[in-house]
Amino acid sequence: MKILDIHTHNLAATDALISVSPDSLPQQENRLFSVGIHPWNTESVSQQEFQALERAAINSNVLAIGECGLDLLRGAPVDIQKCVFEFHIALSEKYHKPLIIHQVKALQEILYLKKKFHPAQPWLIHGFRGKPETVRQLISNDLHFSIGTKTPIETIEIIPMEWLFLESDDTNDFQNLICKVSVIRGVSTDELDAILNDNNKRFLSL
Ligand SMILES: [Zn+2]
Repeated sequence: MKILDIHTHNLAATDALISVSPDSLPQQENRLFSVGIHPWNTESVSQQEFQALERAAINSNVLAIGECGLDLLRGAPVDIQKCVFEFHIALSEKYHKPLIIHQVKALQEILYLKKKFHPAQPWLIHGFRGKPETVRQLISNDLHFSIGTKTPIETIEIIPMEWLFLESDDTNDFQNLICKVSVIRGVSTDELDAILNDNNKRFLSL
């Protein structure tokens, strides 16, 4: 199976890693998932939800943990978000599945946590819209990131090919994104597909 889109919420997506919450993991053999509690939904996480998350994390169609993370503009107070996020970090390490991260205004905290926990699993920040300087900062900290329709062109231009990850998130225009990035990078869409499939499989240890 190919994986081109590293982060989508579209349950019907193919060639994609579909992000779902623990209680909505579909029983579909031919789809691949990441499972997590979104930072926006951290206001009151019950013990049952943590247990459901751990049960889902074991599922063989679940290849990654998330999306999870920190959002300083939405969701529960930051100390609660941090507690929920650290539970995801622990699951990621325990079950050897990489982490898909949502972050808003919390990049320094994510970098701090990565240094603190020294995870063996790779981490990927989804929905990256930062400047070229931030690309260099993330790469030097071994933090992966995926880009979407809102990522600036000057950023897309300088990402090393082996660090390129694309996502549709909650849009449905992945093919347009493939087309746009292939033009910006001067490669064919077939070449870009092959690069993405390789990068995603390396990230997911497939
Ligand atoms: Zn998302």
